[in-house]
Amino acid sequence: MVTRAFTVPTKTIIYPAMFVAPAWAPGYVCPKGLCGLCCLTQSPTGVSSSHNANLDKAVCRSYNSEIRTCRKYLDRPTVCRKYPFAFGVENDRILISVSLECPGTNSKTDIDTDAVSSMLCEEPTNAIITFMDSQYRSAVSTPGIWRDAGQVWTELSRRVQEYFSKKTSLPCLQEVQQLTVDTVWGVAGEEPPEVPPCSVGTVTKNTQGLYIATRFETHALGLVKVIGSKTKISLLDEKWREINKITIKTPTEFLSLEMDKDAQSMIRDYVSFLCNRPFLSLASIRSVSEHVPVPIILQRAFAGVFAPLEAGATLVAHRDHLESLDSNAMREIISFAEGNNHSIFAGSGRVHTL
Ligand code: SF4
Ligand code: SF4
Repeated sequence: MVTRAFTVPTKTIIYPAMFVAPAWAPGYVCPKGLCGLCCLTQSPTGVSSSHNANLDKAVCRSYNSEIRTCRKYLDRPTVCRKYPFAFGVENDRILISVSLECPGTNSKTDIDTDAVSSMLCEEPTNAIITFMDSQYRSAVSTPGIWRDAGQVWTELSRRVQEYFSKKTSLPCLQEVQQLTVDTVWGVAGEEPPEVPPCSVGTVTKNTQGLYIATRFETHALGLVKVIGSKTKISLLDEKWREINKITIKTPTEFLSLEMDKDAQSMIRDYVSFLCNRPFLSLASIRSVSEHVPVPIILQRAFAGVFAPLEAGATLVAHRDHLESLDSNAMREIISFAEGNNHSIFAGSGRVHTL
């Protein structure tokens, strides 16, 4: 894990801030036109999507696909300015992390904390931080909502990391679900809701059936589309032309996949990253709006994180006829999962990145 401390001088307060990333993604660079994945899949407010009939993608209307840049880059919406960062405010501190589906996070460059701080100080992001802070404080001071959430999160993180320290294969979802249920059970005084069974099709249904996976070693894009019992996986060149495609039967069961030592190390690092990223504040904001206790939200969110990880592993393994996973496969699977995880917090009703 990489952590970098810095400060964010907002209009009202100077926040201590912490950047958190896995060791293999310590920073982020986005050379002009690197991939355009975010603009392929985002639907910023006020910018409608167009539909590319050839590739069946949702593309932001402001994106110039010929030269792979935003037509109004200097005036792009807040969601685009923030990407690929996710942040939350808790205990008077800003926690910030990256969304690992962005190939720019495959850089070995250290994070530029001054640039991150400036981005967080811009309006309306500054106002969002203030709002998150007040929501977090409000949740903590509301016993019915909070219900020992800090303690639950610490224990949940510890148990999940301990579980993965011994894990040598995927799938893992059922076991992680059980861990989260066991940890939360009794604290919130009610039964945690069932996490729905996961399959590639289920994850797809929840995210409108459109996936972009990335191959990090090349920055090439893959388009994954699940259409009922068929799944089409296309590899796109730098001009988004389809250069290769395969169609497979949509997997309905997870494979048992051994991970080599590098893949195990990578997923442990990823799990540690999940345990250190700003779940708590984001979850608490949602819980206040939904009147659901924070521990229940944490249980749902944390168990849900592993569903796309399994779906991604199953897809990648089917595509490449794999029986075990190495670090390259794991990196792609994590990028696949991250797009979905990001969407858990981004809210529903949008086109989601993957
Ligand atoms: S997905 Fe990341 S690397 Fe690609 S264009 Fe967007 S910010 Fe840049
Ligand atoms: S507004 Fe610009 S930066 Fe934002 S998604 Fe559209 S093309 Fe990309």
